[in-house]
Amino acid sequence: MKLDKLNKEIRMHCPTCGGTDFSVVEHEEEKLVTCSQCERQMTRSELYEENSELLTETQNEIAKEAQKQLEAELKKMLRNAFKGNKNIKFK
Ligand SMILES: [Zn+2]
Repeated sequence: MKLDKLNKEIRMHCPTCGGTDFSVVEHEEEKLVTCSQCERQMTRSELYEENSELLTETQNEIAKEAQKQLEAELKKMLRNAFKGNKNIKFK
């Protein structure tokens, strides 16, 4: 099973301006991200929280794609298993 194409980057959006470009600064406890467009500064978890809907959506997408690939793989396995048997035909 190949899931390479599922390795897509999740694009975070700035809650203020919707920008997707951030610079990350090491902080004592948590990494701070700064939007390069409006210069809003927040912690990484804040940014995740603001984008939680987007993250869930992406997760669902990945799960759906994985299932699709699994089904295709299974079909191929079945087809191979019955190869040479003329009584069973697959479309
Ligand atoms: Zn911004």
